[in-house]
Amino acid sequence: MSKYLPDIYKKNIFCIDYEKLKKRNIKCLIFDLDNTLALIDQNKVDVKVKELITELKKSFLVILVSNSPKKRVFSFSNDLEIDSYPFALKPSIRTLKKIKAKYNLESSDIAIIGDQFITDMGYGYKGKITKIFVDCLSNNDLKITNINRFLEKRIMDKYTKDNLFKKGSYYDGR
Ligand SMILES: [Mg+2]
Repeated sequence: MSKYLPDIYKKNIFCIDYEKLKKRNIKCLIFDLDNTLALIDQNKVDVKVKELITELKKSFLVILVSNSPKKRVFSFSNDLEIDSYPFALKPSIRTLKKIKAKYNLESSDIAIIGDQFITDMGYGYKGKITKIFVDCLSNNDLKITNINRFLEKRIMDKYTKDNLFKKGSYYDGR
């Protein structure tokens, strides 16, 4: 049962080899917000994050898909000038279906980048898109996330036991 196993695992969004993704014909990058792009108590986009997203927008369609409410998600997506889907209920892929239809994309064109197994990697698995996992920016999670983190720990331990995944052992593809 390796459905949550990331295809790519990196420390953070700055460590991802985006050139390689381009060569793999990835056209659309879906970013998670909390603990992937920003801390949960952060209300403004980091200068460095903004620089990265601005650069990525030259080569990719960049979209924000978050389980957080509208107000928070839109403040980030407006600042970054990207499309966004708040209250996405990941791992539900209803937003992915909308994105594919709106931008005429195939699953093979898309990658999800996030810090959680259950929601983000689960979304990638269900949608059959490339799953890119990053370490969470902080161990400070929203309360609602705690149950997912508990389940995630059990899955991670299982993967580690099976030599499939180890926290901190980053890889570029599998
Ligand atoms: Mg997150």
